[in-house]
Amino acid sequence: MSKNFPLNHDQLSALAQKYPTPFYLYDEQAIRENMRRFKKAFSIFPEFREYFAVKALPNPYILRILESEGCGADCSSLPELILSEKSKISGQRVMFTSNDTPAEEFRYAAKNGNIINLDDITHISCLKEALGGSLPDTICFRYNPGPLKEGGNAIIGKPEEAKYGLTREQILEAYAICQKEGVQHFGLHTMVASNELNPDFFVDTARIIFELVLELKEKLGVRIEFVDLGGGVGIPYRPGQQPVDLTYVAKKIRVLYDKFIVPAGLDPLAICFECGRPITGPYGWLVTRAIHEKHIYREYIGCDASMADLMRPGMYGAYHEVTVSGKENAPADHTYDVTGSLCENCDKFAIQRQLPQIERGDLLIIHDAGAHGRAMGFNYNGKLRAGELLLRPDGSVMQIRRRETVEDYFATLDFAGLDGFTA
Ligand SMILES: *Cc1c(COP(=O)(O)O)cnc(C)c1O
Repeated sequence: MSKNFPLNHDQLSALAQKYPTPFYLYDEQAIRENMRRFKKAFSIFPEFREYFAVKALPNPYILRILESEGCGADCSSLPELILSEKSKISGQRVMFTSNDTPAEEFRYAAKNGNIINLDDITHISCLKEALGGSLPDTICFRYNPGPLKEGGNAIIGKPEEAKYGLTREQILEAYAICQKEGVQHFGLHTMVASNELNPDFFVDTARIIFELVLELKEKLGVRIEFVDLGGGVGIPYRPGQQPVDLTYVAKKIRVLYDKFIVPAGLDPLAICFECGRPITGPYGWLVTRAIHEKHIYREYIGCDASMADLMRPGMYGAYHEVTVSGKENAPADHTYDVTGSLCENCDKFAIQRQLPQIERGDLLIIHDAGAHGRAMGFNYNGKLRAGELLLRPDGSVMQIRRRETVEDYFATLDFAGLDGFTA
């Protein structure tokens, strides 16, 4: 068990005095170094871009940090577009990969010069209508390779059963329509996995995309200027799993690039990703305190965080490593279910997990919570979500989002109106 955490027990205890648990903690330096490694791996291409998937960790401080490391933003809603702008990520540094998109959001993205990535062939006319009769200069389409792409996994499923993207036939037609409409610049996007750890999966995806880039050139004379290989790069949540070797992935894709793209005269072709999870996931933790222990048919440790703070275990049965601060070297000789307070039996951070003996007041660290953690939180059962702290490179800690209050929870209700309301 070698999951890292940047603070020792005394430091974490002091932090929890200042900021009551539960809270999220993110490690800025580790996120920066990780992003630099990602970029370095892909520096063997003439152009590489990472559009950070805002949904994974929608905090403007994090986005500013990533912006300063050269990242763009991948958005899928109006609030995410606004958040990116506020984080100084604008224009073509924003990829708008939405689906089932309202006209208002197309207008907003187009007005700001963001790259619009269309999810369906019918969205060409929707976009045109939303923009008052014209299309943007740059358009990208999301390709769904369907049964061509084997595999898929529990989160996204099989491509042919996924709601996203255009079929191969539609893709050709869609570019032909845009070409006729005078669109000048084209990209091609796909995303067919989520939390995938097999590096060859991404190489294979690149091959499918490169073949389509060639076909578009041959059949339509359309020149694709960038390919976006999506997100879906997994992280090793479980002990013993290996991270995706991005240097290997980049090298293998480079071989395909030299084989397909260069001879076709399509070099330079920008290689893009819109990863969230592998960028911040391993460098964020949910810190919660054990507030109850309960001995019935099983042994339970009740925490002050709940599934409303971190939904992944309850929603997908996802595994997150749990460690007990100060007991890193104690024998894991107890079997616990580690629970939250939601009135749902799936509100368990860990089930039948071997851990050291836990006492009330112990600080539990839930690992790999830096992506799709706080972001997926919700307010069911009147649960108020945790705040977020940032560990700066100089060792100081700042709050980058306060925890929710009862007032936040009631903000959309009109209690004053109750006075004149007869039930
Ligand atoms: C969720 C999502 C991503 C990011 O996925 P990660 O697993 O966080 O890397 C990127 N692009 C699209 C379209 C997505 O839906």
